[in-house]
Amino acid sequence: MAKYGMIIDVTKCTGCYSCFLSCRDEYAGNDYLPYSAAQPPSGQHWMQLKEKERGTCPKVKLDYIPTPCMHCGDASCITAATGDAVYRRPDGIVIIDPAKAKGQKDIVSGCPYRVIYWNEEQHIPQKCTMCAHLLDQGWKEPRCVEACPTGALVFGDLDDPKSDISILKASQGVEALHPEYKLNPAVMYIGLPKRFIAGEVVLSDQPDECAEGIDVTLSFGDNKITVQTDNFGDFEFDGLENDAPYTIEIAQGGYATKTFDIRTKIDVNLGTIVLEKQ
Ligand code: SF4
Ligand code: SF4
Repeated sequence: MAKYGMIIDVTKCTGCYSCFLSCRDEYAGNDYLPYSAAQPPSGQHWMQLKEKERGTCPKVKLDYIPTPCMHCGDASCITAATGDAVYRRPDGIVIIDPAKAKGQKDIVSGCPYRVIYWNEEQHIPQKCTMCAHLLDQGWKEPRCVEACPTGALVFGDLDDPKSDISILKASQGVEALHPEYKLNPAVMYIGLPKRFIAGEVVLSDQPDECAEGIDVTLSFGDNKITVQTDNFGDFEFDGLENDAPYTIEIAQGGYATKTFDIRTKIDVNLGTIVLEKQ
């Protein structure tokens, strides 16, 4: 028996909404009982696309975080339900039984990821089924994964060490969305947005020139990373911890070195840093 999972690479997601639209195309107005009842014409997004804006102008980043049901190994929606209305299949897919869940609105608030919707007309909670009805017919992947043009969504059998998802998981650091929920999700992520520090360097005697190739060193604990400013004089360190201490040192021969002690409570734009001639 396969153990299904999905890895979502946020760095490959362009926010094209193909996954979102293919999901709506599959489920809006279509019953797949006993897997799922039809989605209403509007208001439900079983594959959500969350936009995360980081930084301050002009150093701004926009990430898209595709967010389906996480098909958790320790699913809190299952414990929020009564009468086996939510269950986990042997392949790991978590299903809300549309018949047994009728009237159980508490199931909606049982999910901290907020991926369960209440269907007011049918009086049932609803969510992503990982396209279980298609997988059981022999499909190799859900509609959203099939529709993704960039390969940001990888689906497969986590118990098969030769599957694409297992190879990707072994080769890259994957992490949970909201690990603090401790629900052991089968949907994992690569490249979830972290803190960044950025800035721009100018030399005092060349104020109209971009200061290219200046050494900028980031220190944290016993670690140091040095990068060089690009041809616009810009530098950036991404993937940093939240609320952690970092030091930035900017050095160039013949100019006074500048040092900044930073705590990454927010993304930090140091702005234009002028190195004074000595
Ligand atoms: S993400 Fe929410 S709805 Fe999905 S299995 Fe986990 S707790 Fe249940
Ligand atoms: S289809 Fe792929 S690239 Fe497009 S929004 Fe979805 S995950 Fe991102």
